[in-house]
Amino acid sequence: MSLPLKLPETPQVFKIFINGQWSSSNSGELIERRSPGHGTPVSHWPSGNERDIDEAVSAARIAFEKGPWPRMSCGERAEILYRTADLVLENFEDLALTETLETGKPINQSRGEIQGAAEIWRFAAGAARTLHGETFNNLGEHMIGLVLREPIGVVGLITPWNFPFFILAERLPFILASGCTTVVKPAETTSGSTLKLCNLLQEAGLPNGVVNVVTGYGPVAGQRLLDSSDVDMVSFTGSTEVGRKALHASASNIKKVGLELGGKNPHVVFQDADIDSAADGVAFGMCFNAGQCCVGASRLVVHRNVAEQFSEKLSLLLGKVNVGDPLDENTQVGAMFNEAHLAKVLRHIEEAKESGATVVCGGHRTGPREGLFIAPTLMTGASREMKISRSEVFGPVLTVYPFDSYEEAIAIANDTEYGLAASIWSNDLNHAMRAFRDIRAGRIWVNTTLDNGPETPLGGFKQSGLGRETGLTGIEEYTEVKTVHVKLGNREPWLS
Ligand code: NAD
Repeated sequence: MSLPLKLPETPQVFKIFINGQWSSSNSGELIERRSPGHGTPVSHWPSGNERDIDEAVSAARIAFEKGPWPRMSCGERAEILYRTADLVLENFEDLALTETLETGKPINQSRGEIQGAAEIWRFAAGAARTLHGETFNNLGEHMIGLVLREPIGVVGLITPWNFPFFILAERLPFILASGCTTVVKPAETTSGSTLKLCNLLQEAGLPNGVVNVVTGYGPVAGQRLLDSSDVDMVSFTGSTEVGRKALHASASNIKKVGLELGGKNPHVVFQDADIDSAADGVAFGMCFNAGQCCVGASRLVVHRNVAEQFSEKLSLLLGKVNVGDPLDENTQVGAMFNEAHLAKVLRHIEEAKESGATVVCGGHRTGPREGLFIAPTLMTGASREMKISRSEVFGPVLTVYPFDSYEEAIAIANDTEYGLAASIWSNDLNHAMRAFRDIRAGRIWVNTTLDNGPETPLGGFKQSGLGRETGLTGIEEYTEVKTVHVKLGNREPWLS
């Protein structure tokens, strides 16, 4: 059913979800979210505090220790995940609208993300039935070995604001497929779609206490979840800075930590590339989600012989990008996520200019005045040491680094503390294949960018993260391995 694409007359009001019940926060306070594209309030949810997190963790713990979820057959669990995927699709216009109003992303992009999320729920449902251990029948006549995969326990799941529902789908169905229970702490600015999912999970038949959602600020609710000694694993997606806090907090009870963090992703364009296709791909890679994308293009590493031609083509393309109202079906790039983030991106550009870099196109605010829009920005002349070359800018901003040799291209591509993603543009098989081996990143695209699917794992090298999400690895992440030796016949006595 298609919904009218307009701002709500009054903001949507949400509660937190613990043990299958909706409640206010113990803090009694609410967080207001304004649409980044329009400036008007669109959602309210509780500002959850430490007590809320403790109650949610306790519900998840009881559901894990005593509830039916970890004890169900994989087939029963899969059925509930399949039903959830169906319900996501039945509600996809409403979820997409919520996502657009809270994040500022174009409505057509939100629709794609909700559909993509449903596909991941389906994949995880099927994958639930593939999880199994191993047997060792080669340990001698009197011994059999078994390796059991068991759910790790209570998982604390902390998600960011840039793809609230999609990133949730890359983790939550896998957590559930493995038989774990969970407390989710979505970003304080974009919690609506995560809360709406709770209704769908309940309707799909998920037992109470298996998924609990506490909204609230990171340093309060999020930190308590990281610190909780009743949580067995934390799956954190967000900045490298907070990821480091998750690692520190894990020391208290040696909980497992999965981290999906930042990136400073290069697009390497060789001289032999299809320049038109590469320029279009780079434009898409840097503009998708207004550049607020962990795997988005942020550095263009291009052969010196084609660098000028490439920059000209790219800046022409960037001038055609439709930036504006996220509710307009023709919009390609929506709003930046909040005022402070927009100011930070503009500051990065100004500082780079002061240090000697040149703006080829963009570099300023654009679009309707009440929205937080920025024109796609291409910069040349930035040195590899400048802040803009090293920090995750997280906006539609690309800096250009010409190279003369294959070795130099790889050195520039790898010259970052991150290792999340890279794209290679080349029609020479040797260049492309050598480069995807030599670049240290968790996801590499050749002659394309940003493609993904639930079958393949994702995650980062270096300071971009720990562990992998999605694919079959995505379920195994949330399991413990238990080894069993069974003696057949009589044991040789130790003392006789
Ligand atoms: P962030 O680190 O500020 O926040 C992420 C989440 O952590 C939010 O829910 C926030 O409330 C919470 N948080 C903040 N402080 C906390 C604390 N002290 N303890 C516990 N939780 C806390 O990141 P963000 O600004 O929401 O998201 C953008 C970042 O996320 C970028 O760096 C981006 O690259 C990264 N990201 C990575 C991936 C990936 O898959 N690698 C995907 C999306 C985003």
